[in-house]
Amino acid sequence: MVAFLTDQTATYLRQKELEKAKEEALSAARSKSEFLATMSHEIRAPMNGVIGMTSLLLQTDLNAEQKDYIETIRLSGDNLITIINEILDFSKIDFGQMEVEYQTFDLESLVEETFDLLSTHLGDKEIDLYYDWDPKLPRMIKGDPTRLRQILINLINNAIKFTHEGYVLLDINRLQGTDQEVSVSFEVKDTGIGIPESRIDRLFKPFSQVDSSTTRKYGGTGLGLAITQKLVDLIGGTIWVESKEGIGSSFIFELGFERIETTEDSYGNLSFLVGHQIAVISSSEVAKQCLHHYFDSHGFAVPIYRSASEFLIVKEVPG
Ligand code: ADP
Repeated sequence: MVAFLTDQTATYLRQKELEKAKEEALSAARSKSEFLATMSHEIRAPMNGVIGMTSLLLQTDLNAEQKDYIETIRLSGDNLITIINEILDFSKIDFGQMEVEYQTFDLESLVEETFDLLSTHLGDKEIDLYYDWDPKLPRMIKGDPTRLRQILINLINNAIKFTHEGYVLLDINRLQGTDQEVSVSFEVKDTGIGIPESRIDRLFKPFSQVDSSTTRKYGGTGLGLAITQKLVDLIGGTIWVESKEGIGSSFIFELGFERIETTEDSYGNLSFLVGHQIAVISSSEVAKQCLHHYFDSHGFAVPIYRSASEFLIVKEVPG
C-alpha cells in the first residue's frame, strides 16, 4: 500500500489571510462610503441655510454692488451643493449602494417633463431645444425612470452649457424589439463647441475636463459624465460619444426595456385636437422633422410648410 501525505496547513493559513484581507478591504470601503454620506449631509444642511438666507436677503433693499455680491454668494453656494451631490452619487454607485428601480412608466411623458425642466436652464441663451420621437416607439415601458431621467438631464445640461448657437436635440429611436422587449437609442446632439479628438477618451474619467480653461469658463467638476456612464452601466446600457471640434457633439446611449401593452388611444394629451385641421409652419428643418414625427406618433397626418406664404399658396390651390 502506498500513502501520500501532504501538509495543507500553509494553504489553509494563506486562504484565511486572504479572507481576512478581503473582509478588511470591504469594511474600509463601507466606512469610506459612510463617511462620505455623513459628510455630504453635514455640509448640505448648513449650505442650505446659507443659500436660503441669501434668497431672503436678495428680497430686501440693496444697492447694485451689494446685490452683485450676494448673487455671487448664492451662485457659489449652488455650485457647492452640486459638487457635493455629484460626489455622493459617484461614491454611492462605486460602493454598489445606488438602487435600481424596475417599474412601468410612460416614456414620452418622462421626456416631456424632463424638457419642461431643462427649458428653464436655457436662461437667456438663444438656442433651440428639441426632441425627435420615433413613432415606432411604445409609450409604456418597464425599467428605471429615475436613472433614465438623471442621465438625460446630465447630458442635455452639458449640451446646453457648451452650445452658444444652433440647437440641442434629443433623438429617440426604437432600434429593435419584440412584443415583450424594446431596445431604444437616445442621442443628445448639439451644435456646440465640440471636443478635440485627442480628448475624447478621457471624458468619462472622473474629474476630467477637456482642458483647464473649461473650468475657468464653464465651471463644473468633471464628474457629470463619469456618473452618467456609471448610471448607464448600472441599468445595463452602453454609452459613447461622437464629436467634431467647432461643429458639435453627440452623446449616444442605448437601453433595453420591457414593453407594456396599453389599450389607450394614440392621441394621448392631444385628444383636444381631434376633428381640427392642423398644419405646421416652420423654417427650421429640425423643428419640421420633430413635429412631423410627434404628430405622426399621435395619429395625426399633418402637412408641413416652410413659411406662412407657402401655407397660403398651397391652401389656395383647389385640391
Ligand atoms: P463638467 O461639465 O462638470 O465639467 P462632465 O463630466 O459633465 O463635467 O464633462 C466633462 C467635460 O467634457 C466638460 O468639462 C467638457 O470639457 C466636456 N463636455 C461634456 N459635454 C460636452 C458637450 N456637449 N460639448 C462639448 N464638451 C463637452
